[in-house]
Amino acid sequence: MCGIVGIVDAGGASFPLYYALYALQHRGQESAGISTFDGRLLYKHKEQGLVSEVFNKEVLRSLAGTVGIGHVRYPTTGSKIPENVQPFNFTFRNHKVAIAHNGNLVNSQQLRDEFEARGQIFCTTCDTEVIGNIIADEFRKSEDVLEAVQICMQKLKGSYSVVMMLDSDVWAFRDPLGIRPLCLGKTDHGHVVCSESVAIDALGGTFLRDVRPGELVRITSEGIESLMVAEASHKAHCIFEYVYFARADSVIDGRLVYDVRRRIGKALFEEAPVAADQVSPVPDSGTAHAAGYAEASGIRFLESLMKNRYMGRTFIMPTQKDREAAVRMKLNPIRNHLRDRSVVLIDDSIVRGTTSRRIINIIREAGVREVHMRIGSPAIKAPCYLGVDMPTRAELIASDLNNEEVRSSIGATSLHHITLDALIDAVGIPGEDLCTGCLTGEYPIPIGTECCCPRLMRCVARTYQSGLDTFSKDASPVEKSPSDTSRI
Ligand code: AMP
Repeated sequence: MCGIVGIVDAGGASFPLYYALYALQHRGQESAGISTFDGRLLYKHKEQGLVSEVFNKEVLRSLAGTVGIGHVRYPTTGSKIPENVQPFNFTFRNHKVAIAHNGNLVNSQQLRDEFEARGQIFCTTCDTEVIGNIIADEFRKSEDVLEAVQICMQKLKGSYSVVMMLDSDVWAFRDPLGIRPLCLGKTDHGHVVCSESVAIDALGGTFLRDVRPGELVRITSEGIESLMVAEASHKAHCIFEYVYFARADSVIDGRLVYDVRRRIGKALFEEAPVAADQVSPVPDSGTAHAAGYAEASGIRFLESLMKNRYMGRTFIMPTQKDREAAVRMKLNPIRNHLRDRSVVLIDDSIVRGTTSRRIINIIREAGVREVHMRIGSPAIKAPCYLGVDMPTRAELIASDLNNEEVRSSIGATSLHHITLDALIDAVGIPGEDLCTGCLTGEYPIPIGTECCCPRLMRCVARTYQSGLDTFSKDASPVEKSPSDTSRI
């Protein structure tokens, strides 16, 4: 997961980067960081914690310059050690470089081994550092950044949306399958590239377009330049971004996420109607889905649980009693909406089953008569290797239990997951252009011993179009732990 942003803005980079990261906080709560450049020095501040905890006005004022990148992290690879907090910063042949990444490389270990065999040392356990090393290595050979990034993109396998600050320019690129999102916007005095359109909204900017799968863009004070580096025969946008991960008010690859979730709710009603007193969401992840179910069924939408939005990160509680108290603080049932009622309860997904079991327990204690659970994704049966934090098969409740067994385990009166076909229809992108690995166990690229589905084998044979060798210049691209603060 993770959220990334890059900005070139004549009005100054650090405050817009902060606002953009704030808007992307849902993509990662473990750490946050910003790096900027003022024409001479690179300034950086990064730390474990939420954006609001990591930065204050003084810190932001100290991050000088009109160009910068930022990152919020949700670790999928690389442990939660301070060294792994991004952006990574380094100097190379008098150039100041910062790099941040959302995604997961599947050939990271192999690439790292190749470097280590040549005596290269690494300071982190993240695949992002491998990307930085490839670019530096290729740049060393050719003295041409454009060529270095192009070769790097061709060496990487897996999911990657990357922002890189190299002196006064921001470079951004997206993997040829477009697995993780990335989009471009216009700000008052410059341009921004970021994981989701909500970050552009937070800056009062204008959404321009998505970065195309396989595209490399360079943002300078003059505008945006673009180059298609690699083109696959199809795409593999992560379906889970639409189900759960992205913010509902984001537009990703041309689809407003809220609308997708409403359509999922409608499909859930069509597939599994039930007579009930009300439709309630699991806050907040099931809200848009529940709105769709209520609209389609004519059953009233009424919230049954309230979430305390000010809890911040919950501690790992030492005892079961403490953990139960934390859950009660976080989610409180509205008893008058529940007593003797029959409720359609809607959530986006069931992963381990812990959340659904807990919530059903809470509303049963509040006197609900029937709980009809409707889930906005098919059963999750396989891990994600491409950037979403999913547990191992052994921890996934649906990996070895059938629907009836899961229903009984979470204590619901009835349980229905949306079918894959209906979910794909709701997203509105053809199935062959979506990654559904966590739902089917079939991945868009070969991953160890996992299955690469025949439908997607075309991707393995994908041809890298060597690309135009020059950028198309166009400022209007629609046409085409302890904190680490210092200067280097
Ligand atoms: P679980 O208790 O493991 O079944 O978690 C399911 C809940 O976690 C759902 O309500 C989702 O909103 C949320 N969720 C789904 N996927 C993830 C994820 N990869 N990381 C964190 N939370 C998730």
